[in-house]
Amino acid sequence: MSAIIPAAGSGERFGEAKQFKLLAGRPLLFHTLKPFLKSAEIDEIIIVVPRDDVESTHRDMVSMSAGKTVKVVAGGNRRQDSVKNGVMATSKESTLVCIHDAARPFVTQNLIQQSVSACGNVDGAVVALPSCDTVKYSENDIVEKTLNRKKIWLAQTPQTFNKEKLLQALDNAEKKQLTGTDESALMEVMGFGIKLVTGDSNNFKITNQDDWDRAEAVASQLDDTQAQGKTL
Ligand code: C5P
Repeated sequence: MSAIIPAAGSGERFGEAKQFKLLAGRPLLFHTLKPFLKSAEIDEIIIVVPRDDVESTHRDMVSMSAGKTVKVVAGGNRRQDSVKNGVMATSKESTLVCIHDAARPFVTQNLIQQSVSACGNVDGAVVALPSCDTVKYSENDIVEKTLNRKKIWLAQTPQTFNKEKLLQALDNAEKKQLTGTDESALMEVMGFGIKLVTGDSNNFKITNQDDWDRAEAVASQLDDTQAQGKTL
C-alpha cells in the first residue's frame, strides 16, 4: 500500500503556497503526514511537491520518516499530473494507492484505515460527506435545476484505488484531454466501481484564509484535548 500526498499546488486561490506555511507552529504538510507515518496500513509515502522544494523536503523527511519509506518527487501543472508523478514513483510491489490532499491536515488514522479497507472488493473508495445543504445546478447564476439532496455527497480525501486501474484512468484522461478535480472522477468515466465512505467535517480542505483561521482553531483545540489527556 502506497500513500501519495499531492502538495504541489501553487496556492492560487489562497494567495501563496501554503504547504510549508506554519500551522500551530509546524508546517501544514507535517500535520497531514503524521497519521500516514503512524498508519500500519501504509508501507510507503510519496510526497509530491513543487520542483524547487524537492531537495529541502527530502532533507526534512529524513528526521521525520520514523523508519517508513518516504520518497519526494516533483509535481506537475494539474493535480492529476502531480498524482501521476506520485504513482510512477511507487514501489512495483504496491497494488493499492491511497491519495490524500496535503491541504487536509486533520485526516485521521481511522479515516485512512476506513478508506483502505472499503477498497477491498471495489476499484476505489472515496471518503465523502452527505450534503446537508440543498444543491443548485446553475449556469451564469441562474438555477437550471435542484439536485436530489439525498443523493449528494461532498468528496474529500483519502481516496484509495487499485493502482493498475488508476494508471489506466490517468492514461485515458491524458489521451482524451480530460481534467478531473479528483482522481475518482477520472476512474468513474472508465466505469470503475467506487464506494463512498462517510468522512469527517474536521477533514476539510484549506482553500482560503477563512479555512486557515478555522484550521488554527481546530489545531489549538486538538492540542488542548491532547494536553488534558496527558494530565488526567
Ligand atoms: O487544487 P486542489 O484544491 O484540488 O488541490 C488539492 C491538493 O492537490 C493540494 O494539496 C495541492 O497542493 C495539490 N496539487 C498538486 N499539484 C497541482 C495542483 C494541486 O499536488 N498541480
